[in-house]
Amino acid sequence: MIVEASGKDGSCKLSAGLYVVATPIGNLGDISLRALTVLACADAIACEDTRTSGVLLQAFGIKKPTLSYHDHNADERRPDLMQRIARGEALALISDAGMPAIADPGFKLVRDCREAGYAVTVVPGANAAITALASSGLPTDQFLFAGFLPPKSAARKKEAASYKAGEATLVFYEAPQRLADTLADLSEVLGAKRPAAVARELTKFFEEIKRGTLSELADYYKDHSVKGEIVLLIGKAEETVEIDLDGLLAARLEKLSVRDAVAEVAEMTGASKKDVYARALKLQSAKEP
Ligand code: SAM
Repeated sequence: MIVEASGKDGSCKLSAGLYVVATPIGNLGDISLRALTVLACADAIACEDTRTSGVLLQAFGIKKPTLSYHDHNADERRPDLMQRIARGEALALISDAGMPAIADPGFKLVRDCREAGYAVTVVPGANAAITALASSGLPTDQFLFAGFLPPKSAARKKEAASYKAGEATLVFYEAPQRLADTLADLSEVLGAKRPAAVARELTKFFEEIKRGTLSELADYYKDHSVKGEIVLLIGKAEETVEIDLDGLLAARLEKLSVRDAVAEVAEMTGASKKDVYARALKLQSAKEP
């Protein structure tokens, strides 16, 4: 167990190292018991936004020094955080929501700690991409998490084109004010008929999953502006195998009865006997003088 010692006063001490601790993505009930223990026992907590995390820590009665560590100060702050660990401190890392190191600068701190040979312990928990994927009803056997797409349309389309061929469900984070434009670009580049889902405000009061094709969702969000946090998911392209029913039928009608030709073609193609029969009658009437 990571808790090294527990004093009579209930104080606790963790062994030195970095503790990457997942926090809820909305519903506070999603914090884990282990996360609470580590946050309560850490010497300090590095946070993306100390005010946002302050609210979370206060909700759980955790009073520990917080240090800011975010996209804009990450390179400058990392040496100090590393020195703390070198001095024997247990440093917890949390992000505004969810799993640190996923779409935030946490990974650089993990990388540097690993390179320096410091212990890194991950306390897993909520993550928006995985929650959205599980909730979307899109295939989960393969998925590709691609974080945020570029904000400008030309760069966004270029990046989207690089994902066009794959089989995996694509998972993106997106800002609400860009959702409609991004859906329009993805519909153009990846295909209007690709199945997709918009997962919004997961685990929160206004949680919503909207499913449809890319073009349906692009049309919908063009007319409905939304707020909140969003994960956008895109399923693989449906296979559209063009079946030449008429060709298959015509070849068989040369040598078989209508009934047998229809039965054979229906079985081969999976098309309904009724539909194949209707095609066969049309073909025959077209042949008649
Ligand atoms: N580390 C976080 C995680 O584990 O999911 C993600 C950090 S990333 C900077 C923030 C983005 O995650 C948001 O812009 C949004 O796209 C997505 N996100 C976070 N919370 C969410 C929620 N409750 N519902 C939907 N998306 C969410």
